[in-house]
Amino acid sequence: MTKTLLAIHGGAGTLLKSEMSPEKEAAYLAALNAALLAGNTVLASGGSALEAVEIAVRSMEDSPLFNAGKGSVFTATGEHEMDASIMNGKDRMAGAVAGVRGIKNPVSLARKVMEKTEHVLLAGKGAEDFAKEIGEPFESEAYFHDELRYKQWQMVKGTDTVKLDHDLNPEKKLGTVGAVALDKQGNIAAATSTGGMTNKRYGRVGDSPIIGSGTYARNETCAVSCTGSGEFFLRGVVAYEVSALIEFKGLSLQGACDEVIQKRLLELGGDGGLIALDRNGDHALVFNTEGMYRGFIKEGEKASVSIYGS
Ligand code: ASP
Repeated sequence: MTKTLLAIHGGAGTLLKSEMSPEKEAAYLAALNAALLAGNTVLASGGSALEAVEIAVRSMEDSPLFNAGKGSVFTATGEHEMDASIMNGKDRMAGAVAGVRGIKNPVSLARKVMEKTEHVLLAGKGAEDFAKEIGEPFESEAYFHDELRYKQWQMVKGTDTVKLDHDLNPEKKLGTVGAVALDKQGNIAAATSTGGMTNKRYGRVGDSPIIGSGTYARNETCAVSCTGSGEFFLRGVVAYEVSALIEFKGLSLQGACDEVIQKRLLELGGDGGLIALDRNGDHALVFNTEGMYRGFIKEGEKASVSIYGS
């Protein structure tokens, strides 16, 4: 039996170290630990990597600290439009939703798109109608209202400025969330969920729901979940690029992640990071920003969570 692994991220943009209070840091680390525990409980009981990444991401979607689900940022029109995706490395089945409003756990809706439809990606009203049909839980606008996010939006409202939530001073908060896992059966999976970027245009879709850009999983190569300025991750087809470098160039997991995040993404001018693992038990948590909220647990070992440079 394979030794299980689980890695998570809560966004590649972090509070500057100088702005981080011990209380805030403790809250963020506790939320990361809770997500790791939730996902790892699935893996420890023999559950699938697919199930584990969904559960870990749901845990972060339910926290107001992260820009996903409950803590999603505001669009230019003062709403919350969320994107999410999930992919199973065993058969490369995938599901995603884009620009959905009111959905409590977009990652679970993405999984339902994968399992209950012939499609990979449903957007906007079509995705919301599908959610109603299958009884996926919705929440009211009040559930998604967060005072800090609201202030962030007020700072750029009415301008053309589009911001990663962590770009915004002084009330910077966490970003997109994601998870990658390896289960006892030796299968891997990845999932990503986000509220996108503050003050984004109505209808803007980032990399997170795009298979190959924000999320990718293939047993033969790796499972990847990304975070950062989505337009660059879309143009760089980042998650698939990591897989391709392993498959076609024979790079190691760490080598491929470094090449993409520290070189190719920077060449495009993009900032962000990713988490990745493979079925050999290797993992990589890579970012070109000051920090990335992240956590990792290997079967039989203690969980580790961190925020700033490696
Ligand atoms: N990648 C996300 C997006 O562009 C944002 C983030 O990772 O914080 O929608």
